[in-house]
Amino acid sequence: MPELPEVEVVRAGLAPVATGARVDRVVVLEPRSLRRHAGPPEDFVARLTGAAFDEPQRRGKFMWLPLSGDDAALVVHLGMSGQVLLRERDAPIDRLTRITIDVTHPQQRPLRIDFVDQRIFGSMAIDELVPASDQPGQSIPSQVAHIARDPMDPLFDDRRFLAALARKDTTIKRALLDQTLVSGIGNIYADEALWAARVHYDQPTRSLSRPRALTLLAEVRLVLGKALAEGGTSFDYQYVNVNGNSGYFSQSLNAYGQTGLPCPRCGRPIVRESFMNRGSHFCAFCQRIRAVRV
Ligand SMILES: [Zn+2]
Repeated sequence: MPELPEVEVVRAGLAPVATGARVDRVVVLEPRSLRRHAGPPEDFVARLTGAAFDEPQRRGKFMWLPLSGDDAALVVHLGMSGQVLLRERDAPIDRLTRITIDVTHPQQRPLRIDFVDQRIFGSMAIDELVPASDQPGQSIPSQVAHIARDPMDPLFDDRRFLAALARKDTTIKRALLDQTLVSGIGNIYADEALWAARVHYDQPTRSLSRPRALTLLAEVRLVLGKALAEGGTSFDYQYVNVNGNSGYFSQSLNAYGQTGLPCPRCGRPIVRESFMNRGSHFCAFCQRIRAVRV
């Protein structure tokens, strides 16, 4: 599943090709890939054709390409299996391609942007831009407006996040996965950061001590930063690829998916428990639920 680093790789890879490019032609091969678009496929095609893109933006796992001179943007949700591929215009169209967008950039040769999505949980949509509540003068697609900034964002507010943790009646992993509190952290990064910070996934956020919360936030940044660095090196100009088995899977994982293997810190086996229809991987010795803080 694409997480923040993968989406950032796509955003950064698209930026030089898409910024200032004009859309020549749009083909919708799979109408279900437009489920988040308010109108019919014809409306999507009509609004996009002839439009020009401003620089691609990202918040958490959501990416959008603002339409120049319009209060709207092309919003790209990668879902579980979405990919954005840059192709030559005459390249064969993969059978899992759902939408193709031919673009011409003033300084580049004509290219084709392919939205490829095996499971069709991802989507493209034209969405209206609304004022961003946390940054005056900036706008954001209405579909993304409820998404919090990610911890790598220079405008992420640490104090506000820590205050929200202390206030909310929830547990820490739920909070890390809550995109309205903090974005960009998926199951893998949550498990890895919790392991590194020695925090149990079900620790109530109200009882998480401030030093431990700060350690956890620092570990979240470390694991995201490592994955961003890896993703960045795998980027190929001609082939912007979001692929579930690239990037973070190549780095060594300490807890996620390590069920039964020794904890790299204490040697006891990593265990997996069901959590929100998925799993939580952790060391039951290093990561114990701690008593309410005093
Ligand atoms: Zn351990």
